[in-house]
Order: sequence, then C-alpha cells, then structure tokens
Amino acid sequence: MRGLLYLPGVATLRLDRDLCSGCGACLTVCPHAVFEMESGKALDSARDACMECGACALNCPAGAISVSPGVGCARAIIHGWLTGGEPSCDCGGPSDCC
Ligand code: SF4
Ligand code: SF4
Repeated sequence: MRGLLYLPGVATLRLDRDLCSGCGACLTVCPHAVFEMESGKALDSARDACMECGACALNCPAGAISVSPGVGCARAIIHGWLTGGEPSCDCGGPSDCC
C-alpha cells in the first residue's frame, strides 16, 4: 500500500538504527511499506506513509522502534483541534483505528 501519505512530518514513528539487528520484522508487518533494508538495517524511508498502527514497534525484538499509535491520523489531528487537546481520534483503541 505504499503511496498513501499523511500530513508530512507529523508521524511519531522513531527508528534507532543503532539498535536494529536487521531481522526484517518491521518490513514484514508494516501495512504501508514504510521500511526498507539498507546495509543490513531497517530504514524508515517512507515515514510520511506511517499510519501509526504500532505493529512495527510491537514486533521489533530489538526495541529499535517507537511510535504513539493513532495520534498522527488526520482524524486525530482534527479532533485535537476541535477539542483543544492532544491529537486523538477517540476511536477506542488501535484495533479500531484507521
Ligand atoms: S506504525 Fe504501522 S504503519 Fe507505521 S511504520 Fe509501523 S507498522 Fe508501518
Ligand atoms: S524489527 Fe527492529 S530489529 Fe528488526 S529490522 Fe526492524 S527495526 Fe531492525
């Protein structure tokens, strides 16, 4: 599903390549093909395509990925604007999100 982009530069996804062991799990589980492998380590080359589902962080055995599930989607941002609070889509949790 690469090609779907959200607002640029707002995704909370963070990758610490120093911790990455190159197992490839994040490439396997990411539904938006955010990662690619470069020099034996993951690279988040399409960060703006991240929908913050949290699957990569959950499946990374090295703890190299962090992401705040759901806070970067457009619905969450607009909800935050309207309520004056932090971005949250108020959907009830990651399993229902996006
Ligand atoms: S949070 Fe989801 S969409 Fe974003 S990089 Fe991780 S697996 Fe991909
Ligand atoms: S899941 Fe973690 S350790 Fe495995 S390739 Fe991705 S970032 Fe690296």
